[in-house]
Amino acid sequence: MEFERATHCKLDGNDISLEEALRFRAEAEEKGVDQPDFRCIGCDKPVRPFGGDQNEPHFEHHERNGDCVHSVAYMEKLRDARKAAK
Ligand SMILES: [Zn+2]
Repeated sequence: MEFERATHCKLDGNDISLEEALRFRAEAEEKGVDQPDFRCIGCDKPVRPFGGDQNEPHFEHHERNGDCVHSVAYMEKLRDARKAAK
C-alpha cells in the first residue's frame, strides 16, 4: 500500500480534521492543560498534530510505527525498499 498523509485523526471516537486538531492543540497550550488524546485513523495509536510556517501540517505518531500507512516510518520503509530494488 502507498503511504497516505493523514488529514484526519480521531478524538474521543470522532473523526476530526487536521485543522481542528491543531486548534485543539493550540487551545490546550494556551490553557496550559494536557493535550487531547489524538489517535491515528489508521492504527489507533497516539499522534500529535503539527503545523506551522516551515512545515506542511501533518500528524506524527508518538512512537514510530512502520506498519501504519500514515506514518513517516512507513514512508521511509517504502523509500528504502524502492532504493534496494534498483
Ligand atoms: Zn497510524
